[in-house]
Order: sequence, then structure tokens, then C-alpha cells
Amino acid sequence: MRELITLECAICKNRNYTTTRNKKKHQDKLVLSKYCAFCRKHTEHKEIK
Ligand SMILES: [Zn+2]
Repeated sequence: MRELITLECAICKNRNYTTTRNKKKHQDKLVLSKYCAFCRKHTEHKEIK
């Protein structure tokens, strides 16, 4: 089962990325370093529900 998830910049709160994941393999919340066009740098992007 794959679940669509949204990644939100931890600094500016913009929702910059969407991705999918296998829910069984990834129980924890995702935190990824992604480029944020609004912050103009790589920031932490966290999964939101
Ligand atoms: Zn940002």
C-alpha cells in the first residue's frame, strides 16, 4: 500500500514536495533535507498529515 504524503518546509511552512511511501516500511515521520525556493537554501522538510 502506497500513501501520498506532503513535505512541508520546517522554516517557512510552504508545502514544497509531495512523495509516496510504503507505509509498512516507514512508520516514522519523514524528515528530508530539500531545497526550498522560498528560503533559498536546503531546509528540513517534514511530513504533514
Ligand atoms: Zn522554506
